[in-house]
Amino acid sequence: MDIIDFHIHSNHSFDSNAGMEDVCEAAILKGVKEICFTEHFSLNPVVPTYGHMNFESYFKEIENCRKKYESQLMIKAGIEICEPHQRIEEYKEQLKSFEFDFILGSVHNIDQKKLRIFLENKKSTSAYGEFFAEVYQMICLADIDIIAHLDLLKRYAFNSIGNLNFKECKEQLVAILEKAIARNIGIEINTSGLRGKINESLPSYEILKLYKDLGGEILTIGSDAHTPETVGSHFEEALQMAKECGFNYIYSFKQRTPIAISAY
Ligand SMILES: [Zn+2]
Ligand SMILES: [Zn+2]
Repeated sequence: MDIIDFHIHSNHSFDSNAGMEDVCEAAILKGVKEICFTEHFSLNPVVPTYGHMNFESYFKEIENCRKKYESQLMIKAGIEICEPHQRIEEYKEQLKSFEFDFILGSVHNIDQKKLRIFLENKKSTSAYGEFFAEVYQMICLADIDIIAHLDLLKRYAFNSIGNLNFKECKEQLVAILEKAIARNIGIEINTSGLRGKINESLPSYEILKLYKDLGGEILTIGSDAHTPETVGSHFEEALQMAKECGFNYIYSFKQRTPIAISAY
């Protein structure tokens, strides 16, 4: 089983203290074959990540790690953009001079509010409808490779309005996944949920299976690690899930081109 972890944060993200070299060394110790750093990035001044990313030092450190760990670990350069469907032209302008392997698109905020705040006065599961409407906008408009943690709202809603009801949201999920497939955008199995109270991946098995049934192929797996210890965590479960859903390949990316890798 090859572990290819395509969602990792280092201290180039506002919410991580992990040094890139420490992340690489932890990955090598775990037998991880390939990693992609996907640092938070936003051009929206109200979100906490705004202004944190320094691309020059990010790429310089990536280059150093590539040299240092050349024979042991493949290292890709990625980014996780908050609401990339807003300010599309600004993102294009900002990112055009850098050579990214991979871009994750995330909905972390709705109406300029963090999801946790957005949820505060919501009483019903219709909040999921609002969340997926935002994800749908992202899928229609953004220039991204993979949708990060597709059902992320459940992480914050789990203790209040409850977990996602797949049947209630199925129509919206079909629309999102069909649009993603048409635009050649994939999804990820984000294993961070398996480390938390919710105890399931993001997205859930049902959504992954729906993606496959609709013809989806492009699939990455990411730990969403913010510490060296969590790099490559719960990949066994994720791969098992992918296998059960009928996926024969897991994907890596190079210069934003998907590369199918036989996973089992
Ligand atoms: Zn995220
Ligand atoms: Zn992340």
